[in-house]
Amino acid sequence: MPLALFEKHPALGEKLPHISLAELPTPVERLEALGAHLGVDSLYVKRDDLTGPVYGGNKPRKLEFLLAQALRAGKSHVLTFGCAGSNHALATAIYCRQASLKSISMLMDQPNARYVRQNLLASYHFGAELHLCDVGLESRMRWLRIYRSTGCQVLRHMVADGKRPMLIPPGGTSITGVVGYVNAAFELARQVAAGQMPEPDLVYVASGTMGTAAGLILGLPAAGLKSHVVAVEVVGRTDTARQRMASLVNRTAAYLHSLDDTFPAVSLRDSDVDIRTGYLGEGYAWFTKEGMEAVSLMRQLGGIGLEGTYTGKTLAALICDVRNGAVKDDTLLFWDTVNSRDLSDFARTVDYRDLPRSFHRYFEEDVQPLDQGAFQ
Ligand SMILES: *Cc1c(COP(=O)(O)O)cnc(C)c1O
Repeated sequence: MPLALFEKHPALGEKLPHISLAELPTPVERLEALGAHLGVDSLYVKRDDLTGPVYGGNKPRKLEFLLAQALRAGKSHVLTFGCAGSNHALATAIYCRQASLKSISMLMDQPNARYVRQNLLASYHFGAELHLCDVGLESRMRWLRIYRSTGCQVLRHMVADGKRPMLIPPGGTSITGVVGYVNAAFELARQVAAGQMPEPDLVYVASGTMGTAAGLILGLPAAGLKSHVVAVEVVGRTDTARQRMASLVNRTAAYLHSLDDTFPAVSLRDSDVDIRTGYLGEGYAWFTKEGMEAVSLMRQLGGIGLEGTYTGKTLAALICDVRNGAVKDDTLLFWDTVNSRDLSDFARTVDYRDLPRSFHRYFEEDVQPLDQGAFQ
């Protein structure tokens, strides 16, 4: 079956580079026990934890378009960015290998957690070249240092490989990456039309670099659904978040419309964007009590593994809205964005001392206090 987006807009299918990496469509499932526990009748989950047999989560959908672009441009390497435990950097490593590309990860410091260790080991296992640009998230020198280190690596690879690596922004969020989630929205519309779930009133999704939420905000109405997206902020750059989200949506719409004028050229205002704040806690990748409670509820009642950086905080926002009584009678869709495939066999093949020295501290220092047996 063609991608849901291409089925509705065949001209996009002819013009947009795309390679099939993910296993689509991902299931939608009713969360009966969790819904009953919370007192909401119509609660569903979109299982994007299962986008790939080796590694799922939200990144493979973006990489289908991003890596296709790298291949079309004749690149041999891609270089991308993230924090030390970046799911995006790991997904890029895994899917680059599948697409016969090499990956370079420029990583930044972040709060320690067990998933950071596992993602680093697995990235190494899958052949990523890892660099730690040793600046904290809050540092003002951060971008300067990253630009400088990136410049060095780009030059080094130009000399070694004779080609510039393709740069993929953090989280895979660019117009090209966002198209992966426009397609995801069309996929959901197809599932609603097939009777797999009722049309959701509200879609709760984690928002980091905003590509996932932007794709859904654009794609759901374009696919004919009236669902409203609640983008739960997990990074903390909230002051400009609505503008950046609206701009990303509008630029992606303009791009798709320019390729195929049957795709709507929307023009979203900042005030149309619903970014939910209040669930971040101390900052990016610092787990919260509400988030970890949501993780354990989902594990006990839904049998699905979430985590503390993104999905726990997002489900906590949904739970809070239900408990306030604001959305009890609505059809709610929780969009699961985290991988649930077990990586421990891959991680076990690597000794952390084989990683560049700067990464050793994540293995030698304690993890944060709330990371207590909750994740895998
Ligand atoms: C990257 C990521 C997100 C955030 O997606 P964005 O498109 O960057 O907003 C959400 N959940 C998980 C598990 C992620 O790895």
